[in-house]
Amino acid sequence: MLEHERNDLVEVIKKKGITDLNVIDAISKVERHLFVPPAIQHLAYEDNALPIGFGQTISQPYTVAFMTQALNLQKGEKILEIGTGSGYQAAVLFEMGMKVYSIERNMEIYNRTLKLFDKLGIRVAARCSDGTLGWKEYAPYDAIIVTAGGPSIPEYLKKQLAIGGRMVIPVGDKKSQTMKILKKLDEDKFDVKESPYFAFVPLIGKEGWKNE
Ligand code: SAH
Repeated sequence: MLEHERNDLVEVIKKKGITDLNVIDAISKVERHLFVPPAIQHLAYEDNALPIGFGQTISQPYTVAFMTQALNLQKGEKILEIGTGSGYQAAVLFEMGMKVYSIERNMEIYNRTLKLFDKLGIRVAARCSDGTLGWKEYAPYDAIIVTAGGPSIPEYLKKQLAIGGRMVIPVGDKKSQTMKILKKLDEDKFDVKESPYFAFVPLIGKEGWKNE
């Protein structure tokens, strides 16, 4: 039943332009309903963002697929995620065979999601801190995915990206953002592509928005 719903969701994201077979395979396997609050589990396979408490959201499946596809990932690469949230995006990356490092700033969300990872056997290195500073100990990363919208691209994250590495980050104001898709060509040289009209919760931190 749920598998059937998941397959319908996969058809929806394919129609919207997702072609990366590894991404499609991961979306068809990860049980998104386990990453949303019980009361709204019946909505888990619609292509929408959903509330996960504390004013935060689990991203829309199409957005998760779009960002993951944009990173052009190869199995076994090291990826840093900023904004663990529900853990769904990290679970998709883990399912694809990535080495995942994920940072969440909200302690309650962090603790809850860590328990879920444990329960589901999802092996992700996680920490609770300001992700705009990155995670220096494990840098450089082959890819960085920022799942909250910031006013600019944090310099720490640019530094912690490997040469040849890719980053996706929504940048704009607090209501709407443009997805920036970067490739690091050299220490200070980036190729940047853009895709408009995304809406994320704010990236809060030293190189993000202030916590008001
Ligand atoms: N990837 C998540 C999306 C969650 S929403 C998922 O699949 O569900 C974005 C999350 O980013 C929120 O949980 C929010 O608390 C967190 N966040 C915002 N600013 C952050 C920062 N500077 N560092 C780490 N996490 C941050």
